[in-house]
Amino acid sequence: CGIVGYIGPKEKKEILLDGLQELEYRGYDSAGIAVIEGEKLNSFKAIGKLENLREKTKEYSSEGFGISIGHTRWATHGKPTELNAHPHLGAYSYVVHNGIIENYQELKEELQKEGVHFLSQTDTETIVHLFEIYNNKMNDPFAAFEKTIGRLEGAYATLLITEAAPDTIFFAKNGSPMLIGFDGAEVYFASSDTPIIGKANEVYYLEDGEYGYVKEGEVHLFNAEGEKTFTKQPLTADKL
Ligand code: GLU
Repeated sequence: CGIVGYIGPKEKKEILLDGLQELEYRGYDSAGIAVIEGEKLNSFKAIGKLENLREKTKEYSSEGFGISIGHTRWATHGKPTELNAHPHLGAYSYVVHNGIIENYQELKEELQKEGVHFLSQTDTETIVHLFEIYNNKMNDPFAAFEKTIGRLEGAYATLLITEAAPDTIFFAKNGSPMLIGFDGAEVYFASSDTPIIGKANEVYYLEDGEYGYVKEGEVHLFNAEGEKTFTKQPLTADKL
């Protein structure tokens, strides 16, 4: 039901938890975060209040430069359990998603035929496995993400991170809201503006069908036709 993301040097756990708190008013049954710092991937999930996730991540800090995603879930497919909470894990990637993948059953059957084992009952988990199947074949995370998005029907706002591209957040939006905020070389994602207010000095509201990827100081945005609409170089702090 809520999504946040952050690339930058700040304590990512705090940015994600504070951002998710700003989205609490929308309601949720569970929450989770995933962070990649250097090559190291960490993820935490908890059912119930964000307080439970705060408690679970008490000993964890993430202060180096890195990438991170977070989610509050309002279950549509699968009970509100910890296993069904986002981020969903493949073999080396994590995904968060708001909305409903209408054709998930068909995608799930196709993936199961390829030998994929599903851990959750969510529609969302299909995204991460599709991505990895394509990436294993193509060895090109962006091309694999693009192909994955092309297979999805329904409403989604989604963020994906992967050890195959540990400095990059992949994003896509169709039918569910998502925006990107910039502050120097730092980049924020959120499903509404409340987590970003006071943090980013520039905001871009994604249009339906848009997708792309973000790295430190770089944003690459494509429209539904796969055309590059812009490559934004966020301002560095000394240029503001
Ligand atoms: N359909 C997804 C699920 O049930 C996402 C729900 C949401 O938007 O929070 O996990």
